[in-house]
Order: sequence, then C-alpha cells, then structure tokens
Amino acid sequence: MIVPRYTREIPQRYRLEAGRCKKCGYLAFPPRQVCPECGHREFDTVPLKPEGKILTFTVVHVAADAFSTQTPFAVGIIETDDGARLTAQIVDCKPEDLAIGKRVQLMLRCIQKEGKAGILQYGYKAVLAE
Ligand SMILES: [Zn+2]
Repeated sequence: MIVPRYTREIPQRYRLEAGRCKKCGYLAFPPRQVCPECGHREFDTVPLKPEGKILTFTVVHVAADAFSTQTPFAVGIIETDDGARLTAQIVDCKPEDLAIGKRVQLMLRCIQKEGKAGILQYGYKAVLAE
C-alpha cells in the first residue's frame, strides 16, 4: 500500500463513498478522476451500502511482512448491493466457511500499523453476514 495515495483516499475509504459516472453510471470505489468505461470526468458522490456478496476470494498463506502474522487469511472481491466492487480482507471466519456468493457486511477495522511511529491505517474488512 502506497501511503500518499492511501492518505488522499482516506475520506472516501472511511465513509465508503464511491463515484458514479454522470454519463454511463459506472460506480468506482475508490472514486476516480476518469471513468474506465467511457472516459467521462464528472462523477456524483454516492455512499455505498456496506453490504454485498463475495464475487471471488483467495486464501493467502504467504503474505508481505506487515501481514505475515495474520496468515492464513482470506482476501476477496466484494460486490456491494449498489454494484461497486472492492477488494477486502474477509475476517472472523475459517477459510472453509467461505464461498462465492455468500453475503458479507463491510466493517471499518484497523488494517495495519505503518512504520516505526505505528500510524494506524483503517479500512473496510468484510465479515460473513448471518
Ligand atoms: Zn462512464
């Protein structure tokens, strides 16, 4: 994770705000400057519903240093009920409990500590919905 980019995206990440393309309706999270579908540059800010389903997932057994104490852990592509797609760690469950199409809720959690100062980075993680 690159810190300057991450910092710039914090308001959207904390509020789960996406950009909806004013021309074609594409929903980008985090918001973008240019629509990847049609090239338009104007977006409406829309809050995402923190609920959705698992489109696909993988279980990470060998992770980068910052996450090595958490292995094995699951990372998935979540499609919110609004139609936005985002990558999130799927937590509080066993890998064998996961399946494509299962319902999840997105929750704001601590993602990692950055550097010696221990700056905490927050972001959304997915938990299986009942
Ligand atoms: Zn567009």
